[in-house]
Amino acid sequence: MLRQYLEVKESYPEEILFYRMGDFFELFFEDAVEAAPVLGVTLTARNKGGANEAPMCGVPHHAVEGYIGKMLEAGYRVAICDQVEDPAQAKGLVKREVTRVVTPGTVSEPELLEGKEANWLAALVWSGEEGGGAFLDVSTGRFLVRRWRRAEDCAEDVLLLKPREVLLEEGTLPRVVAQVVEREVLCATPLAGDRHFDPRRAADTLKNHFGVTTLRGYGLSNAEPAVTAAAAALAYAQETQHNALEHVRSPSLQSDGEVLVLDSTTLTNLEVFRNLREGGRKGTLLSVVDRSVTAPGGRKLRSWLERPLRDAADIVRRHDAVEELVAATQARQDLREVLTQVVDPERLLSRSVLGTLTPREAASLRDSLERVPAVLGQLEPFSAAALARIATTDPLRELAAELGRVLAAEPSASVQDGGVVAEGVDEELDRVRSMARDSKQHILEMEAQERASTGINSLKIRYNRVFGYYLEVTKANQHLVPEHYVRKQTLVNAERYITPEIKELEDQILSAEERQLKLEAEHYRVLVAEVSRYGPGLSVLAEALGELDAYLAFSEVAARYRYVRPSMGPLGAPLRVSAGRHPVVERTGVDAFVPNDVELDDEARLVVLTGPNMGGKSTYLRQVALISLMAQAGSFVPAERAELGTVDRIFTRVGASDDLARGESTFMVEMIETANILHHATENSLVVLDEVGRGTATYDGLSLAWAIVEYLHDERCPKTLFATHYHELTELARRLPRVVNRTLGVKEWEDQILFLRRVVPGQADKSYGLHVARLAGLPEPVLVRASEVLAGLESKPPGNQPEVAAEGASTTGSVTPESVSVDGVIVGTAATGSGAPTAGRHSVGQRSEGQIPLFKPVEEIVAAALRDVDVDQLTPLAALNLIHSLKQRLDG
Ligand code: ADP
Repeated sequence: MLRQYLEVKESYPEEILFYRMGDFFELFFEDAVEAAPVLGVTLTARNKGGANEAPMCGVPHHAVEGYIGKMLEAGYRVAICDQVEDPAQAKGLVKREVTRVVTPGTVSEPELLEGKEANWLAALVWSGEEGGGAFLDVSTGRFLVRRWRRAEDCAEDVLLLKPREVLLEEGTLPRVVAQVVEREVLCATPLAGDRHFDPRRAADTLKNHFGVTTLRGYGLSNAEPAVTAAAAALAYAQETQHNALEHVRSPSLQSDGEVLVLDSTTLTNLEVFRNLREGGRKGTLLSVVDRSVTAPGGRKLRSWLERPLRDAADIVRRHDAVEELVAATQARQDLREVLTQVVDPERLLSRSVLGTLTPREAASLRDSLERVPAVLGQLEPFSAAALARIATTDPLRELAAELGRVLAAEPSASVQDGGVVAEGVDEELDRVRSMARDSKQHILEMEAQERASTGINSLKIRYNRVFGYYLEVTKANQHLVPEHYVRKQTLVNAERYITPEIKELEDQILSAEERQLKLEAEHYRVLVAEVSRYGPGLSVLAEALGELDAYLAFSEVAARYRYVRPSMGPLGAPLRVSAGRHPVVERTGVDAFVPNDVELDDEARLVVLTGPNMGGKSTYLRQVALISLMAQAGSFVPAERAELGTVDRIFTRVGASDDLARGESTFMVEMIETANILHHATENSLVVLDEVGRGTATYDGLSLAWAIVEYLHDERCPKTLFATHYHELTELARRLPRVVNRTLGVKEWEDQILFLRRVVPGQADKSYGLHVARLAGLPEPVLVRASEVLAGLESKPPGNQPEVAAEGASTTGSVTPESVSVDGVIVGTAATGSGAPTAGRHSVGQRSEGQIPLFKPVEEIVAAALRDVDVDQLTPLAALNLIHSLKQRLDG
């Protein structure tokens, strides 16, 4: 037996081998040692103390799925070696084979999957500057293909789709990708030099599978990395599942041009899927809008939020559908009600293709399909194009009818138990079944007869696997046993006998039962093949029902929470929201939510938002971003009115979060994210920046914040909301035409402040840091002392401080230092006189270290002067003088 084990194990060195022995799956040697603690079972040994002691552990076969799940969670792959012949019939050692390899990225058992999430297996291939990837969900047959020019985009997709397993060629991935895989992915399966990663055969693998002669129809060319990746993922999945995976759908190549791109930072910051603090679903956008009642609906809705649309016409089509469903309250309720009883056709299809569909699952597919015509019928009154399209989906009546005809009304859990196939499907089956059933009746009759003829009232006819049927008589009645009974076994209290008649009956029963099971298994096999044959239709249907459920979810939420339909403008058109709300805070906040307006158009494109801590700045910023995101995903939005130009990307930089695991400080993370925004935001993007520059010293931070706003404004001027506690930045509104100031109103009352949560034009005049500290419960002596220090600092005259470089060529001008407190440090604001060149002085409280010139480094002044020179008009002498004066300025 161990030899057989070792032979099998040789082919699966990297997997944990589950080896079937009777009612258990056993693990041996290293596998046992490694797996026992993960499985939570005791490690024992075969031949304990003997010459060839083998560590082992085992799990009962009927509960094996749960144990496989534990191994997968821990990132292992599991090879299942099962008995492939009936042990009762086997001569010698029972034949065993690995029937499937279960890996985190290829599981399809419902118990091991999240219903409302996809389970991606990814393959990533890089060749030089170009990367390609494939994401395959074996449990539903979905197959996405991606093409990348930048390693960061590849890393982004991995973060977004969160594959559970990644196939990769070791050492070939760019560093950022390798890091993300290492950090985020449960199981990285190296396929170095593996035949799956053969670029020469990749295109043929795909063409053969999908039955096409060219990949051009999918937008792919033969030799590119994406094709290698797609073929690798498919071949790997086929090999582990020992199956051709006919349900895997044609690869769909997604390009960023079609969707609203949300990077992982933005999804994290906006808490779309995960709560920032607790990590769960609570308090996320998904938790508010996901009112889907089916798993495919949940998956669809999630994918809409992951990749909202960009094209206004497509978005409007979704809104049309939602609008009609919002208005039809009763129909909406009815539809959701029926949909709750529709199971996951996509995943059942994959189970049927894999040959693991149980009779009960088949019955639930039948019941679901029977309800589909009613669902589609209810859509008839609707005219929205998206709903009309769903209404015309093929309900697969023939398949429903076939399932209805062949399956018993309530089939047993397993084909081996019989009772799976309905009456009337097969005459022979009906005959043997009634024979088996009647024979049981005969047994009862025979029992009664024998009792009567022997006078033994306690005589019983029983069955066990060793003797088949036998008569059992208690010791006390032995004297009544007739001659022709043949004794078979003696127990403490009873004797067991057989008779020729009982054996004859037994033969009839057993052969009838055997025949029945065989026929049922055959009918069931044909039925499951039939389900698989309907694969494409089932996929389309699942997709349509998922979509319907997602529309219903959006409309349910819209009706329930009074969302409105946004009017969508083209890319880059103004964004105007009246009385907008934050979809999550309005549901979970302590106080009544105060709605706010926003307006981002050509005149006011960049809002500098100031206000006290806790004033509601972050909430406002996120609310605007979420409203855009929701609208482009197809949802209505929490507002009274919304007019939204579509955006191509949403960028956020919110809050300060250290990523120490990545070895990056808060400030580093902040700058990396900001760099990404400055490089990639276009004039059609929406940018949300919260407290950029906070992670470093005041002057550094302020300078950076200032320069960032200027850059955004001058370069492409995306629609931008910039929340900051640097009140100096409000100065920018005076300097830059498209910058406006907004602030969150507060009311001061004695020593208290009242947050009004209302966004109004203007700027905050102070930070209210001490007030907030009081609200937070800082001890009174600390507050009193802080007030004293503050008063002292504020009364210090500015002096002996480095000069701020002035705007324009002149270094002199009016100086209007105006002290405000920033984080407890007093800084003067460089304020401009009316158009006159100015210089400000910065008083940095007690700090005496020199600061870098704040707003205009001298080089820039020199550059500006040069820019103004009209070379054609310049005499050689004037040129010489100019060079001299510029040089002097540079030398200080
Ligand atoms: P800031 O970013 O200015 O420090 P936050 O946006 O974090 O402030 O808001 C602080 C708290 O105020 C939030 O936790 C939220 O509960 C509440 N809040 C914010 N905006 C509103 C609003 N418009 N209406 C009601 N409560 C709000």
